[in-house]
Amino acid sequence: MQPRDLSDHVAYQAGRGIEEVARELGRDPSEFVKLASNENPHGPSPAATEAIRETASSVSSYPKAAHADLVAAIADRWDVADEQVWLANGGDGAIDYLHRATIEPGDSILVPTPGFAYYGMSARFHHGDVAEYGLSRADDFAQTADGVLEHYDGERIVWLTTPHNPTGSTMALEEIERLAAATDEETLIVVDEAYGEFADRESALALIEGRDGYDSRDDVAVLRTFSKAYGLAGLRLGYAVVPGEWGEAYARVNTPFAASELACRAGLAAIEDGDHVERTVETARESRERMRESIDAHVWPSEGNFVLVDVGDAGAVAEEMQERGVIVRDCSSFGLPGCIRITCGTDAETGRAIETCNDVLAALELDADSRRESEAEVPDT
Ligand SMILES: *Cc1c(COP(=O)(O)O)cnc(C)c1O
Repeated sequence: MQPRDLSDHVAYQAGRGIEEVARELGRDPSEFVKLASNENPHGPSPAATEAIRETASSVSSYPKAAHADLVAAIADRWDVADEQVWLANGGDGAIDYLHRATIEPGDSILVPTPGFAYYGMSARFHHGDVAEYGLSRADDFAQTADGVLEHYDGERIVWLTTPHNPTGSTMALEEIERLAAATDEETLIVVDEAYGEFADRESALALIEGRDGYDSRDDVAVLRTFSKAYGLAGLRLGYAVVPGEWGEAYARVNTPFAASELACRAGLAAIEDGDHVERTVETARESRERMRESIDAHVWPSEGNFVLVDVGDAGAVAEEMQERGVIVRDCSSFGLPGCIRITCGTDAETGRAIETCNDVLAALELDADSRRESEAEVPDT
C-alpha cells in the first residue's frame, strides 16, 4: 500500500528556525537572530497576545461566532460584503481554496519564477498543472502585463505576487488591469498581497470593487495574510477577497473551522491595533533602506519586509552568516541561485545583519584571493 504518485510533488522548504540551527551547531539559541522567514521582529500585537490568553479557556467550542466576527471586521476594513472574504488557515489555506474553487483536473495555473513555491504545490494537490513566467534579473524583476502575457496560454489562474517574494518588486495596478483585460474570461488573476502593508500602494481590491477610476471586475481576487505585518505567522490566519459573484463557492470549498478560535480572536484584536502595524511597517522601511545603503553587494529595491542580495555564492554566504549567528534565506529553492534574502529586523538586528554580511563577503573574498595566489605559486613541472 502506497500513497499516490507524488513524484511531481516537492516538499516546501521553510526558512530555518533558531532552535533547529542551534541544536545542529551545538550552540545556544540566544546567539542567533532569525531573518529567514519574513516574520515580524516586533512579535504580535500585545492586544492579540491578550486575546489569545483570554480565549484559552473557550477552545472546547468550535469557532463559529469568532469566524463570523472576524469576517465581518475584515469586510468592514475593505468595505466589501462578508461573502467576499474567504477566511483560511493562513494565506496558504486561501491559496488552496482558490484552487479548489477553480481547477478541474488537467487545468493549469501560471506562476512567477523566481517565486513562492506553494502556488505550484497546491495546484498539483488539486490535479492541476503548473506553467511559469520568468521575472528577469536583468530587468530587476520588473513585473509587467506583457511579461506575463508572453507566457500566458489560457491558464485558469495567473498568480501575481506584489510585493514579490523574494525580490521585492511590485506590479502597478494599471498593469494588472491590462493583464486581466487581455486574458480569457475564464482566467482568474490572483494578486498575492502577503506583503501589501509594507508597500505604499493601493490594493488590487480597487479592481474588484471598481474604485478609484477602475471598472469593477469579476476576474480578480486578492490574497492577504496575518503572518507578516500582523506578526501572527504561528497562528495561521489569512484570507482571499473575491468578486461578489464568487461568494457562494466558499461554503462548498472551505475546510470546516480551518481558522481556529484562537486565530480568529487574535486576528480580531490585531486588526484593531493599527499602531502595531504602523510601527512594523516603519521598522521595515528603515531596515530595507539601511541594508540597501550599507551592504557591500547589490541589494535590489524592495517594497516588502525583506531585501534580496546578490552575493555570488549564496550557499557559502548563508552558511557562514549562520555560523556567525544570523540566519538568512539562501534563495536557490526560489530559483535564484547566487542570492540571499534578508528579512527586515529591529534596528539592532538590521545592524548585526549588515555587519555580518559584509564581514562574510570580505572573508570569502580573502579566501578566494589566497586560493588564487597559492595556485599561482605552484611551480610548473
Ligand atoms: C508568507 C506568504 C504567504 C502566506 O503565508 P501564510 O503564512 O500561509 O499566511 C503567501 N504568499 C507569499 C508570497 C508569502 O511570502
